[in-house]
Amino acid sequence: MKITDIFKTQARTYSFEFFPPKDEISAVDFGINVGQLLKLNPSFVSVTYGAGGSTQERTFALVDLLQNKIGLNTMAHYTCVNASRSKVEADLAYLKGLGIDNLMLLRGDPPKGEGTFTPHPEGFSYASDLIAFGKSKQDICVGGAAYVEKHPEANTLVQDLDNLKKKVDAGADFLLTQLFFSNDLYFDFVEKARQKGINSRIIPGIIPITAFNQIKRFVQMSGASIPAEIIEQMTAYQSNPDKVYQIGMDFAIQQCRDLLIMGAPGLHFYTLNKSRATIEIFETLLH
Ligand SMILES: Cc1cc2nc3c(=O)[nH]c(=O)nc-3n(C[C@H](O)[C@H](O)[C@H](O)COP(=O)(O)OP(=O)(O)OC[C@H]3O[C@@H](n4cnc5c(N)ncnc54)[C@H](O)[C@@H]3O)c2cc1C
Repeated sequence: MKITDIFKTQARTYSFEFFPPKDEISAVDFGINVGQLLKLNPSFVSVTYGAGGSTQERTFALVDLLQNKIGLNTMAHYTCVNASRSKVEADLAYLKGLGIDNLMLLRGDPPKGEGTFTPHPEGFSYASDLIAFGKSKQDICVGGAAYVEKHPEANTLVQDLDNLKKKVDAGADFLLTQLFFSNDLYFDFVEKARQKGINSRIIPGIIPITAFNQIKRFVQMSGASIPAEIIEQMTAYQSNPDKVYQIGMDFAIQQCRDLLIMGAPGLHFYTLNKSRATIEIFETLLH
């Protein structure tokens, strides 16, 4: 089912993002965690596409499993990296053949060590080009990426929002945000997007910080700023992992609660293939 059809009956969606497990042991662990998350009855789930297309086979195998064996509404991520037009056309047809109606279409990041993205000579420079092409080839529902603190390569948020509008005009049906920790930034971003004429749902991407060493990683990964008070509290308790976990969870629960109270159209969890934190957030919010 297309995610846009889910929107017709769900004012808010709750979704989980996974990455393809790297080996058999991780696959077993993944199975256990997904089993737990299924109890939360997600609106949809999504599976990332490794840098440079490195996980293509596993991404496709996992979306097949989640969609067709487990019966979840599943979205496959897909990027422009190393992809010619003919490859994109074949891959999208293959995914459609698997019954995948939903695609998160992205540009992708430059390979490690390279500062700038180099498009495939017969491929696409921007996600908006991939989205327009994908929509012209298949009957699909498309998600696009949005950055509440602007994409790292954009000079200004205004410029990034102009480019986001191109993505929506090219056919993105909804937007999922990069992770962030300040709800004010999210709501300010949504308001600015509306002023640009972007009317699609902008679903906030959430990641709870559950360990001290994640702070640096998440900032590197996303460019998201982390409120000084959390860093201070976690630094003070860095030798006490349980306390750090509790600080991170208290913050994430409050962030999710406030987002929903203030009218966000759902929550998209970057689960990192783990279930505990996401389940705790749901259980707390529902009681
Ligand atoms: C929710 C989410 C999921 C993700 N999943 C994955 C994944 O599975 N695999 C993966 O490899 N990466 C993933 N990413 C990361 C993403 O690939 C990178 O952030 C990448 O650098 C940009 O992708 P994009 O689709 O936003 O690119 P674009 O929308 O093309 O934007 C890239 C940059 O180009 C600028 N730009 C866009 N259009 C134009 C234009 N027409 N003219 C001039 N400038 C323009 C933008 O302002 C921005 O600075 C994800 C990101 C998010 C937020």
